[in-house]
Amino acid sequence: MNTPIDIEIDIAAGTTSPPAFNWDEWYEGIGGRSNAIPEVMEYRRRIQEEQYPRFEGPVAPVRHPFASPEEAAAAVKAKAEEFGADIVGICRIEPSDIYRGRSVTETYAIAVGQRMRWKEFQVVPSEAAGIECMRVYHSLGETVIRLAEYIRSLGWSCSVEHPIGDSDLLHVPIALKAGFGELGRHGSIIHPKLGPLFRMGSIATSIPMAIDHPIDAGIAAFCDKCRACRIYCPANAVPDHRSPEAGKDHLGNDRYMIDTGRCFPYFARNNYCSACLPVCVYNHKEWARDFETGEPTKIFPEVVMVEPPPPFDGVEQERRHQYPRLNRTRPK
Ligand code: SF4
Ligand code: SF4
Repeated sequence: MNTPIDIEIDIAAGTTSPPAFNWDEWYEGIGGRSNAIPEVMEYRRRIQEEQYPRFEGPVAPVRHPFASPEEAAAAVKAKAEEFGADIVGICRIEPSDIYRGRSVTETYAIAVGQRMRWKEFQVVPSEAAGIECMRVYHSLGETVIRLAEYIRSLGWSCSVEHPIGDSDLLHVPIALKAGFGELGRHGSIIHPKLGPLFRMGSIATSIPMAIDHPIDAGIAAFCDKCRACRIYCPANAVPDHRSPEAGKDHLGNDRYMIDTGRCFPYFARNNYCSACLPVCVYNHKEWARDFETGEPTKIFPEVVMVEPPPPFDGVEQERRHQYPRLNRTRPK
């Protein structure tokens, strides 16, 4: 699921990309912006002012010779982990992985993920949870930018697909193909070890690399019986059933379709909500990890379920989930 915290950052003007999702219009429709956590605002500022200018850089004139695609993939993955990725995988880019109206000429996507700390999701919605989302967006931004610098030093161009605000690639289908996990009822990917509490970014490049493959760990099948996220969604936005009209997941299942017209207004007024992530039963391994640190954590979060605002679908369908990318050029 692509939530508003992913895409509400104001992007610089001066683009020929498709029409922007009009967040001002949208927020106006629900009564104005109500989330203004200082730490979140500071991460947003650092991403815009300090990270965006580093999306591009010089490409080394001579290409590093890898002995095989497997060697290239291993080298790139090792660097991604060195730069802070908790999970990394590679897949081929297909047209369906690209945002409507955009184009990507590179062949491969390197998907990277970074875990969020369970202890920050003890109460949801909460300022602590909202800050943790943005902390990881910033930290993961550093990971993808440094990985891009490494790839350019090998003599290959690439593009940074930042975890928020400015990406040509759809992170979810990319990560599913790269073997990150399975799509849960709540619309987020569930990793067999990390659960759903992680964020994603990626790099697009054409270095010949061995690719990874989607997994079937029985998670999606489990979702058909479990309804925890459905029960604890305060906005009643998580569906009861799979929807044939929502398309297929990587295992060929009809997808669950989140009602974004219900989710987003709640999300916008309640510290970016995120309740569906920590209540997911696939967090059990994350709990164990945080117990190891000695920090007191709950086995199940406290979910603050206030009265949801009315659903809002005030922006026409074809303009949803679209936003302009930066006015930037990408050397090939
Ligand atoms: S739990 Fe919160 S973030 Fe998740 S779908 Fe419901 S309203 Fe949206
Ligand atoms: S809470 Fe249950 S139904 Fe929802 S995504 Fe997690 S495992 Fe699936």
